[in-house]
Amino acid sequence: MAPKENIILPNTLGAIRSVNEIFRPESSEALFEMLPAAMRPHSQVSVISRGNNWGYGCSAPAKSGGLLIDLSRCREIRSFDRDHGIVTLEPGVSYGELAKFLEEHGDEWRAPVHGGGPDCSVVGNALERGYGLTPHTDHFGAVMSLKAILKSGEIYTGSLTKLGAGHLDKLYRYGVGPYYDGLFSQSGLGVVTEVTFRLAKKPEFLEMFYFSLDADEDLEAAVAAIKKSKQELGNVLGGINLMNRERCLSMMIDYPNSKIQSLEPLSESELDKFARQYKLTSWLIVGTIGGQKTIAHATKKQLLKNFKRIKKRTVFFNTGNRKLFLALAQFCQFMGFSQIARSIDTVDRAFDVLNGKPNNVALQLAYWKNLARPHTNQNELHPTRDGCGLIWYAPLVEMKPASVSRYTDFVKQASIKFGFNNLVTLTTIDDLCFDSTIPILFDRSNPEDQKRARLFYDYLLHEGLKLGFFPYRLSIESQEKFDFQTDLFKLDLANPSRYR
Ligand SMILES: Cc1cc2nc3c(=O)[nH]c(=O)nc-3n(C[C@H](O)[C@H](O)[C@H](O)COP(=O)(O)OP(=O)(O)OC[C@H]3O[C@@H](n4cnc5c(N)ncnc54)[C@H](O)[C@@H]3O)c2cc1C
Repeated sequence: MAPKENIILPNTLGAIRSVNEIFRPESSEALFEMLPAAMRPHSQVSVISRGNNWGYGCSAPAKSGGLLIDLSRCREIRSFDRDHGIVTLEPGVSYGELAKFLEEHGDEWRAPVHGGGPDCSVVGNALERGYGLTPHTDHFGAVMSLKAILKSGEIYTGSLTKLGAGHLDKLYRYGVGPYYDGLFSQSGLGVVTEVTFRLAKKPEFLEMFYFSLDADEDLEAAVAAIKKSKQELGNVLGGINLMNRERCLSMMIDYPNSKIQSLEPLSESELDKFARQYKLTSWLIVGTIGGQKTIAHATKKQLLKNFKRIKKRTVFFNTGNRKLFLALAQFCQFMGFSQIARSIDTVDRAFDVLNGKPNNVALQLAYWKNLARPHTNQNELHPTRDGCGLIWYAPLVEMKPASVSRYTDFVKQASIKFGFNNLVTLTTIDDLCFDSTIPILFDRSNPEDQKRARLFYDYLLHEGLKLGFFPYRLSIESQEKFDFQTDLFKLDLANPSRYR
């Protein structure tokens, strides 16, 4: 008989979820030893590596009940091959911990990073198929091999490990015979106990570019230029973000408390005023060029050529001119232009992230409609604990100018309809698709605002699908609305409700 206890798992969605028991092993060894007995009384077993799946469900499962396995205490970096840049991690290792380890033991390698900050799990993010801006941007794509325990208690490893050639399993992701590792991502097949990742080398030269488009009408031309650049320039050109003016402002200004309480979006005139203060235009394109100096310079030249016909303001921020920008920020602060100083500080912190040093610069976004925001310590942000309201809508958008226009029009109209500000980011996955992220931010302490946010999300999800847009990853509340699994393989799932 399963225990009857109800342990509530708060989350930024405001969804009510609970489990009957939580199991927190100290190490993978303890997990292997105790898991079969711990699982036995439960029909459902959900797993978290650190449980910071903010905006998608945090530590809560898609369906209440059963056992939650929390692997946040399994934090060993099991091996590191400095020559190859291959690292094997237990699930509890965070981005911050990996970055620190590399600083001490392999400074030539760059830790993977993303906007969720230093406390998220490298393994958990990869198993959700998350992504970032630094190479390798597709975090599951950087997985070389993994080890897991199945519901039966059996241990899964790659085929080469089974043959006794485990070192090759870490160097060649497909092994021999059928490739199964992918079945452990976005599924409830088992408990992944370690993952081997491939790291990217720190570039000799790193430069961030900012193109501010002068006119909304140039968006389509910009998409075409991004596509051409991604097709031509290979890995020296990193991921590229396209953000609209409102999305940029959400990282720079505080949302007025009176408007949080009255459930109103910022008006056009307020947006115009803030945009003027922060020198923002309708769209901002942010990306990186990183590599051997001569190659990076040639890449920059070609990139500028591809964007030549588009009217824009251009800023390059790199290891060389960084000090100059910081001095300028200090001067602006002194002269009372605090907005410009704040913008430079944001750019500088983003530069650190892109260099493999995670920080909270993007995580502050989750606090936009949090009335307790001024009392939070900026170095210890935790959106679940701090009562933030956030749901991510993260659809794939075909990289074609007309598709992007259709998508941005759709989101704009939907935002007006539901009374939210229109916060759009489009991030390149490759030269075929963008992943767009729309943060639906709300006051979690207000049930009416929660309801509005949920209706907005559902509308985007269902109406977006009709127009050909669908998320690469879903929240715990929407996973149950679709059928993803195939009947062709009868898998004995530990958690049948995850992406069911
Ligand atoms: C402002 C902000 C910005 C963000 N930016 C990004 C971004 O740029 N890119 C991005 O990808 N995400 C982003 N996020 C979303 C999210 O916070 C991260 O994806 C985060 O990495 C997920 O949490 P985690 O790493 O702790 O993984 P977990 O929450 O531990 O895991 C995620 C899910 O994977 C499964 N899982 C985890 N571990 C195991 C295991 N060992 N075995 C089997 N299944 C397992 C579980 O189902 C779990 O629910 C952002 C969030 C915020 C608030």
